[in-house]
This record gives sequence, structure tokens and C-alpha cells, in this order.
Amino acid sequence: MDVLDAVEFDRRPVGEALNLVLTRQLIHEGLAAFIKHAAHRYLSIREAEPSMLPVARWWVVQHIDQGVRELWAWGRRYRSADGAMRELRLIRIANMLERRRSEAEVAVAAYTAAYGRPASWPDEWDKKFSVRAREEVSRVVVAEIDLTEGLRNVLFDGSVEDAAALYEKDGRRAAIQVLNGQKRRPSSDCLKCRLVLACEEVARAPGLLGLRAPRRATLRQVSISDLRYYANCPAQHHLQTLHLPKANEYSTPARIGQAVHRYLETLHAIANGPCQPSDMPAETSWHDWQWGLDADAAEVGLRMLAHHPSVCPLQEHASDLKIEETFVFHDTAAQALVIAKPDLVYRDDDVWVWRETKTTRRRPSGDVVAEFPQVALATVVLGRGLLGGPVEGSRVELEILRPTGADLILFDPSDPQQLDEAYSVLRQMAQPWREDDTFAAVPGKNCRTCPVHKWCPSAAETDPPPSSQETASGADPEQPA
Ligand SMILES: [Zn+2]
Repeated sequence: MDVLDAVEFDRRPVGEALNLVLTRQLIHEGLAAFIKHAAHRYLSIREAEPSMLPVARWWVVQHIDQGVRELWAWGRRYRSADGAMRELRLIRIANMLERRRSEAEVAVAAYTAAYGRPASWPDEWDKKFSVRAREEVSRVVVAEIDLTEGLRNVLFDGSVEDAAALYEKDGRRAAIQVLNGQKRRPSSDCLKCRLVLACEEVARAPGLLGLRAPRRATLRQVSISDLRYYANCPAQHHLQTLHLPKANEYSTPARIGQAVHRYLETLHAIANGPCQPSDMPAETSWHDWQWGLDADAAEVGLRMLAHHPSVCPLQEHASDLKIEETFVFHDTAAQALVIAKPDLVYRDDDVWVWRETKTTRRRPSGDVVAEFPQVALATVVLGRGLLGGPVEGSRVELEILRPTGADLILFDPSDPQQLDEAYSVLRQMAQPWREDDTFAAVPGKNCRTCPVHKWCPSAAETDPPPSSQETASGADPEQPA
């Protein structure tokens, strides 16, 4: 946005604007590569429609009665020379096909473009906008700009009356829900929340990651998947955290795992008892769950699922099921928000059980906690009683589904030795991550399958990506996020 502002409002050439922004602060080389790409893509669309003029002020619909209610939309704004036409451009970093804008988003964007009054961004975030006089507008366009591909997709094009009608139909209810929303839902958005340090849903857990480092100044967020990416390559982890567009994110083993997980998640959400062999999909019904798997990989997934009923967690005493729920813990010693999304957490009588389900083609050998570090985090969380209830008797269950069988491995969070092992695994993964401020790339074999290598100037020259058959037969266990 800073680069585009410099081009559109300060009339600087794009090269100069990029230089200005990219040298002003320390920016990762991968992020810099993406910013250059995105700025050029965006401006190539601008050049195609030079008649629309950029608008620096926001368009804000403001109601003041007992309180102040304001509605506006993130994006870039343009108007025709006579002001009768407005266009709001919503920015999309990743591919448009990945997630469509909701009807409510489009309705609110159209409404604010039609009726919003110009206003500068307030100096302080909790102050209201100082809005100017209403402008006469007759036509409104809402478009979405895909920065990766450089595409413009029109989401709304109509009169201001059409925009008002659309807001009544699709937007008002969503806006009221936001205004009245009371529920707190911890997620990977917590890091951006200004109230996170005071939020009751974010449990304080000093030392959760077992780090010996002195307390760091800036709060960071991390999950076990993040630490796995970090172990592959710090730059890969960093660029993924920035949500840069990815390519070929999931290998075939990972997609098998995703399909199996989604199937079990859906089944457990409606189950009245343990899964039966008859609940597992037949070849024909499995087709809808398949994450683009080829026939061989789909068959592997089917065979893995067939073994789940023998280790299904939903036995007689299971209650309080939390399926794929997100938990956020604040390790105040490491200054890290630790995000955990267990496959399933449930109560067995009065103790908590944390179930992780993993799919792999081979029986695990060696240190399973190091191989599946989600188990380490689960052990530590339960060992500290962070979900409430007694620690004694609580357990972590690692369910391993293979094409030829299933294993159920149990861990006891009340056992000091197992707890020590869990801390040790977490520490080994988290210590280098917490101490790293540069996230330099480690080019190598990993670049071949790295989903963000396109943005990495240090990426090794890569061979063509492996065929799905080659990947499917690899030894890597599947590790969904
Ligand atoms: Zn089950």
C-alpha cells in the first residue's frame, strides 16, 4: 500500500517508490520480491483505466446516536473526474479461486462506496473519523484485484440505489452481528488483536515452550506446523506466516491426510457412539472427500480409514467433544502466542484426553514424540492442567492410521519423565525460531517442494516438481496443519 500511495498520490515512478519503501525498513528478501511483483501487477491494471482518479480519503458511513457506529471497507478508492462514479478495489494477495468474498463483504463494500463520506484516517485508532460533506454519486463499482495474477474481477456494478438494496439484503444482518457480537473465539487472528493480553480465552502459560532464553520484546505467534516449516527452512516459515501466495502447498501424502481428517471430523461431529466399519466410506462415497487425489492415493486413504473403528475415541464415557477447536496459550516467558488445534479433545469421565490422528504409510520407528511434535505440545498443555480438571489420569492419544493397520500410542502428562521429554522436543524446535530475527533461507533439496519458493531470491535452482507417484511413495509422514 505504501508503494502504491507513493505512485498514486506523490506521483513517484514505481521504481523510485519501491526503492523508497524497501529501503526504509528491514524487509525480508522474499517479502521484497513479492512487493515488487504485486506493485507492478496492480499498476498494470491501473494503466488500463487511466480515467479513474485515485482517492486518498476513506469512504465512511457514520451514525452517531448514543454511540458512534462507522462502516468502511479496506481497499483502494477511485472516482471519475466529475465524482459521479466511484470504484472501490479490494485487494487479494492469494489466488482468487481459493476463497470467494462473502455476499456480506461485497454488500458492505458497495454500500460504503455509494454512501460513504470522505474522511482521513484518525490519528488515534480509537477516535472517530472526521467525515466531510456527502458527495453526489450515481454509479458504484466494487472490484477485486488479484495481486498475484494481476487480474481485476468486478463484484458489483450498479447505481447507489442498487448498492443500498444489496446492503439491506446481504450486509445489514452481518453488520449487526459484528456490532452485537460478544463471543470470544481464539484463533490465529489473536496476534492482531489489541485486547489479546487481557483476553480470558487466551490462557497464560509461562514457559510452555520450555525455552531458556531471556524474555523477548515482541510478541510472536507459533504453531507446531510453523516450527516444522521453520525446521525445513526459516525463510519458508517466515514467508508462509506473511500469507504470501503459495503453489502446490500440499504433497500427496498431506492431501491423503487432509481427506482422512475431514472425513473423521465430519463423522465425529454427528456420531452417537463409536465409529463402526459400516460408517467408513465405500469407494463411491469416498469420491467427494478426495482433495484431488489420484486413484492410488484415494485407495490408500480408504484403506487407512478402514482401520479407524478399531481405535475410535468415541467410546461410552467420551463427552464434551471439541473437534478441531483452536486453543491459544500465551507463553509469557517466550513472548509467544502458541496456537494449538487438536484433532479432538474430549473428556473421559472427568479427565481430558487429547487425540491426534496421523496418517502414514509406514509404522513409526524411533522417537514418536520428535516425529509427531503435536504430541509434545499436547503433553505439556495437559501436564500443566491448562484445559482445567485433574492432570492425574489425563492422557494424550496418538492414533496412527496406516493402509495395513492402526496404532494407538498413549502418553501420560502426569509422568515427569514424559513431560521432560515433551519439553525437550518443544525446546529444540522453538529455541532457534525464537532467537531468529532474520529468517534467512537455507537453500537446498527442500526448495523443490517449497510452496513459497517463487518469492525467494535465495531458492536453489530446482528440478521439475516430482510426480505425484514419486511423492506418494516417499517416507514422510503426513502432517496436516
Ligand atoms: Zn471415530
